[in-house]
Amino acid sequence: MTAETKDFRLDGIYVQRQEGFFMQRVKLPAGVISAQQARTVALAAERFGRGSLHLTTRGSIEIHWLTEADLPAMKTMLASVGLTSRGACGGAVRGITCGSSQDSAHFPQIEILARRLQRHFAGNPRFERLPKKFKIGIESSVAGKRHLIQDVGLVLNQGEDGRNAYDVWVAGGLGREPQPGFLLTPAVPEERIIPLIEAILRIYAADTPPGKRVKHLLRTIGEEEFRRRIAADPTSSEELPPYKGFPETLISGRTSTERVTAHFIAGNLTGKDLSALADFADSWSDGVLMVGSNQDIVFQPAAGKDGQSARAELEWLGFQPHADRQVTCRVCPGNHECRAGLAATRDIAAAVTEAMGPAAKRLTWAVSGCHNSCTQPQLADFGIMTSRLQRGEGEQRIPLFDLFRSQVDGLGEKIESGLGLTELIAAVQRLG
Ligand code: SF4
Repeated sequence: MTAETKDFRLDGIYVQRQEGFFMQRVKLPAGVISAQQARTVALAAERFGRGSLHLTTRGSIEIHWLTEADLPAMKTMLASVGLTSRGACGGAVRGITCGSSQDSAHFPQIEILARRLQRHFAGNPRFERLPKKFKIGIESSVAGKRHLIQDVGLVLNQGEDGRNAYDVWVAGGLGREPQPGFLLTPAVPEERIIPLIEAILRIYAADTPPGKRVKHLLRTIGEEEFRRRIAADPTSSEELPPYKGFPETLISGRTSTERVTAHFIAGNLTGKDLSALADFADSWSDGVLMVGSNQDIVFQPAAGKDGQSARAELEWLGFQPHADRQVTCRVCPGNHECRAGLAATRDIAAAVTEAMGPAAKRLTWAVSGCHNSCTQPQLADFGIMTSRLQRGEGEQRIPLFDLFRSQVDGLGEKIESGLGLTELIAAVQRLG
């Protein structure tokens, strides 16, 4: 049996571009990971993955360069500290993301819900072997527009009664046919969220052809019929008993409202880096790290610790804690490691940022190696997506790029298409 025919994806494992190598994705609820867990991931990367780690825009950590023989030991190692990768790839409910790690007031309650959803859906055979991936994201506001690109996007909408409630957006997604999600129901009490998502998942699994997302089902049957089918599912209006017990959250709402961030080029760091950051977290942020949506690592200073000193310490350790000293540019692995990649994204990002003037450097950027749009180019101020390969001389294939610009409402719009690298750089330079 070849690696391709094995059902590795549900275990969060992709076949890498380089034959004989694999990538393991670790899903973290709302991007939160303890120092102990981070140390284990770091050790796994050093032991099995050439020491290289990649932070994703969805708050996961990827370990590349694994051999097939490493995979069982890797799984055991992750499980030893309560980490799972089940459903991190393939037709399953993916990691529960949250791009609101900077919102100290609301992040703890979002983290609690993210943990609950991950525990309910990860590895649940009722919700595996779906037609394609199913993404859930929770946000404290609509500001980042990340709710628009999820199969289910939850946006905190706390009523006057103090009950946790969420606006439920559905059927969004990027990819070859980007489509913003639509508001299915406002202010759904938290006790109804799991049953409602179950109803959406059941309809998705039953009525959608293989390889298609929820957005395809919506396009096929229309919003009215989509709503009717969900409403007809018995669990769509079910309310579970309120959760009682001590809070299951690593991020405390009672310490600092500050945030300290370690920035990385293209979301790449080494196992040694992560290990050092885990030690930093033990000293400065109650032993907790958060993988942020810009492929960075965010810390909430512990009680009695101030952000300025924490930043100075991070800098002394060799990390970049100052956002204004580095262009915010999300970059996927592209054809450096990803089988779908059409371009060497890190090289493209380096060439583009090198050419930027001061105005362009202040903007947020994203570079994706194919139309799958893993870095969410349609949510950055400017996004670069590799759209296709053009035949060059002999066997040479030249990548062409589409350029997106953010809009006031909705997803970013394509403003240029089919640009070669020289034309792309010229377009970036025109921004000043
Ligand atoms: S955008 Fe494409 S090339 Fe980049 S990581 Fe995603 S699938 Fe791979």
